Amino acid sequence: MSDCIFCRIAAGEIPAKKLYEDEHVLAFHDINPVAPVHFLVIPKLHVPSMAELGPEHVEVMGRVMTTAARLARENGCGEGFRTIINTGRVGRQEVYHLHVHVLGGPEVLPAMLKR
Ligand code: 5GP
Ligand code: ZN
Repeated sequence: MSDCIFCRIAAGEIPAKKLYEDEHVLAFHDINPVAPVHFLVIPKLHVPSMAELGPEHVEVMGRVMTTAARLARENGCGEGFRTIINTGRVGRQEVYHLHVHVLGGPEVLPAMLKR
């Protein structure tokens, strides 16, 4: 998966500001943040999008979500945060390696979607 930018970050081939890393999960700051806190949590395993998740991913996705929650707490999101997973064309996914956005900061975030 050498053509996948997030696999390349996970492999250390492309630099990123890492927040946390273990055998299964990596978290790093978004290169183009849209909130004071904006980081991404990914499984190191290449899964293109949430649409491809199956029973074999239950454990790693549990690790991704619990890591997102812990890092949110540890990075100034004690009063709440937003998680986003964009999926596919309709979801405007840009990078096809499943990732959870964690967004937050001191102020209340804008409305999720414009009505
Ligand atoms: P998506 O639309 O796929 O949910 O979001 C992809 C996110 O990845 C975007 O917020 C974008 O700023 C971020 N991103 C894209 N390329 C890189 C990169 O090379 N490094 C980092 N740290 N973030 C990236
Ligand atoms: Zn990948």
